[in-house]
Amino acid sequence: MTNAVVIVLFADPATDRAAAGLAGAGLQLAQQAGGTLRALSLDPDEYQPEAFLDVLTNACRELQPRAVLLSNDTYSQEIAPRLAHRLGGSAVWDVMSFRAAETARNPPHDEGDPSPSARRGMTVVRQVYGGKAEATIALLRAPAVLWLRARSFEPGIAEAVRRVEMPDAGRTRIIERRTEGQSQTRLEDARIIVSGGRGIGGADGFRDELTPLAQLLDAQVAASRAACDAGWVPPALQVGQTGKKVAPDLYLAIGITGASQHMAGISEAKQIAAINIDRDAPIFKHCRFGIVEDYRKVVPLLRRKLQEIAR
Ligand code: FAD
Repeated sequence: MTNAVVIVLFADPATDRAAAGLAGAGLQLAQQAGGTLRALSLDPDEYQPEAFLDVLTNACRELQPRAVLLSNDTYSQEIAPRLAHRLGGSAVWDVMSFRAAETARNPPHDEGDPSPSARRGMTVVRQVYGGKAEATIALLRAPAVLWLRARSFEPGIAEAVRRVEMPDAGRTRIIERRTEGQSQTRLEDARIIVSGGRGIGGADGFRDELTPLAQLLDAQVAASRAACDAGWVPPALQVGQTGKKVAPDLYLAIGITGASQHMAGISEAKQIAAINIDRDAPIFKHCRFGIVEDYRKVVPLLRRKLQEIAR
């Protein structure tokens, strides 16, 4: 086991915000650990879980890293725990910060000297109870395989990125790819999010009211689970405990009540604003700005005002 830190990139840190955050986190941890940063890049267009796992496992066995960092895309979320298992390490998801510890506590049943992996432990912080508390977790088995919360780390540039080639023959073969939604920016990286809930009342409200508002604000559209479950928007737009964790500068919640499971996905938003007909809706407790009104009255006014400003 070395002090190296591996980052697994699915995009170029020079052009992609999430990848830059991952590179920044890798540099930070490598500095703390007194090790080197090793960047592995994979082409997401070639994504197949088994093949990616195989090549990453082999690369990590060769590099013997202390930690493997991934970003919070769906590929990484699928791979991280399985990679940790194959490497005999620990996995934690949605990590907001970390600290390399030179000597971790021994695992409970260890006697005598800590194993080399226990000596290279680390602690990580992530939210629990739907964002109501933070847990500091000591990882005793190295490597620590972590996927990181978006926008939680200063961006950086990774030098000497090693492209990992896929083997020609895998156990599975992709015969068709379908892309969900038209969005260019991942929700996790969006600076402004216009999000709708059950109060929007149907798919047409998303299409005719929220999407044009989002376009004027250069924002991404998201939704509560209730709106996704109703089939008004694709499940990929769901924000919350079982959806995406986002960290925009502004999260505009429209017709969303503010259930704890929804709030778990937006605890890192810098500003939350809401439009809701119910003045007692829990979302208002988390808001800097709020409007108690039917969104069908407010959103057209907002759009008109934004169009005037843009002229
Ligand atoms: P509602 O609770 O029905 O609220 C609709 C809101 O719209 C109300 O506040 C109402 O006053 C307002 N409204 C109605 N009409 C208008 C109008 N014309 N103009 C303005 N406002 C209006 N939920 C998530 O969102 N994400 C998750 O990841 C998630 N994970 C979950 C995991 C578990 C294990 C469980 C049990 C639940 C989870 N949920 C999640 C569901 C969550 O508990 C709530 O049921 C859900 O968030 C409610 O969505 P909503 O606020 O859109 O709908």
